[in-house]
Amino acid sequence: MTEPVRPAAALALAEKSAPRYTSYPTAPHFSAAVDATVAEGWLAALAPDATLSLYLHVPYCSSICTYCGCHTKAIRRQEPLDEYTDALLAEIDALSRRSPARDVRHIHWGGGTPSMLGPTRFLRLATAIAERFDLSRIQEHAIELDPRTVDQPLVEALAKGGVTRASLGVQDLSLHVQLAIGRLQPYDIVARAVELLRGAGIAAINLDLMYGLPHQSLADVKETARKAAALDPSRLAIFGYAHVPWFKTHQRLIDASALPGAAERIAQAKAALDTLVEAGYVAIGLDHFAKPDDPMAIAQAEGRLRRNFQGYTVDDADALLGLGASSIGRLPQGFVQNAPDVGGWSRAVEAGRMAVVRGIELTDEDRARGELIERLMCDFRVDYGARAADLTGDAAAFDDALADLDALARDHVLNHDRAARVVVMTEAGRPFVRLAAAAFDARLRASATARHSVAV
Ligand code: SF4
Repeated sequence: MTEPVRPAAALALAEKSAPRYTSYPTAPHFSAAVDATVAEGWLAALAPDATLSLYLHVPYCSSICTYCGCHTKAIRRQEPLDEYTDALLAEIDALSRRSPARDVRHIHWGGGTPSMLGPTRFLRLATAIAERFDLSRIQEHAIELDPRTVDQPLVEALAKGGVTRASLGVQDLSLHVQLAIGRLQPYDIVARAVELLRGAGIAAINLDLMYGLPHQSLADVKETARKAAALDPSRLAIFGYAHVPWFKTHQRLIDASALPGAAERIAQAKAALDTLVEAGYVAIGLDHFAKPDDPMAIAQAEGRLRRNFQGYTVDDADALLGLGASSIGRLPQGFVQNAPDVGGWSRAVEAGRMAVVRGIELTDEDRARGELIERLMCDFRVDYGARAADLTGDAAAFDDALADLDALARDHVLNHDRAARVVVMTEAGRPFVRLAAAAFDARLRASATARHSVAV
């Protein structure tokens, strides 16, 4: 049996900050050196038989939840949605003309609230994608939905447009927490959205929950997890609220004194995990849960789980094309990010250009470190010596991580076999995996001033 993480150390570690490692290098390291011209060259160089994943970002919501960490804006009028749809159509057209590859395996709509597009705009866009790309081997077509916007016409359009998986933002089902985060959404609204989606034939449902919210108790987290599992989704995710008011200024509306402390956050994450595992779900990576027969649980069991900007995924396409303001894409040469402002993005795509304004070209070292970090985040272990030998010819290539790994080993967060160069997270240390991943992050060490959310 492994020893628990030392209690005093656990609190100190939970308050340390670390990137979420949805990419390596992480987005703060992107620069303007990668612009639209560079990105267009990378896209044009794709092999014609490369597989593609599309991510479409819709940066609008009907109101802003105070806890929100997304790139979005509240709108009341319909005109911005019409203009945004027209610009997305132009971008679909521009990317399809520039990309030699057509074989799309995954589509993901995120935001903001993509369901704000409504049935007609959504179908125009889904139809344009189907006309310009080859969807004959698509594996998943997923969309993030606000349960408050789900109605019969929308679910019919989603089903007609080929959606196979819907993620519903639930967060917490207790009224006092919903009031504290500016998002009133009683259980019945969530249950009704699930019922409508299933009725339309969209059987794969994800529910997204949160812990660490203002005024949220351990009992609230358990009760929400229990009620969410009773809706029988195929996947759930539970994310820790990231309080970053210096970056997301609307979070200043949250009473910081009502936020659970580090010990409470650790207990809440554990309570959610225990509740969902008891309900029959398999824990996936840091924050996901899936039914044992879900493709994500199978991918984890087979060591094929991946991590991208949406978190844990089964998506292993050769390239990710990001559409919409602020979207991030991944091409074999590196990461690219669209203009964050809708005006700058739409002007570029309407001129037939890619809207990329920043990114990063990957070095061989970035690729190797990125692979180590991804395996650690997905598998909770990494044979970093063997991988280093394969990738660089030198088993000691990442020994700059030794001191940090040893420190985490002393706190029983992980077991570190120095001779074999193998790291395995302990059961109790898994919530701190971002800190272990950071040991391999040479760019983070070089820029010690970057601010990230807390590790748990
Ligand atoms: S609905 Fe989602 S994206 Fe929109 S403000 Fe709320 S949390 Fe943010």
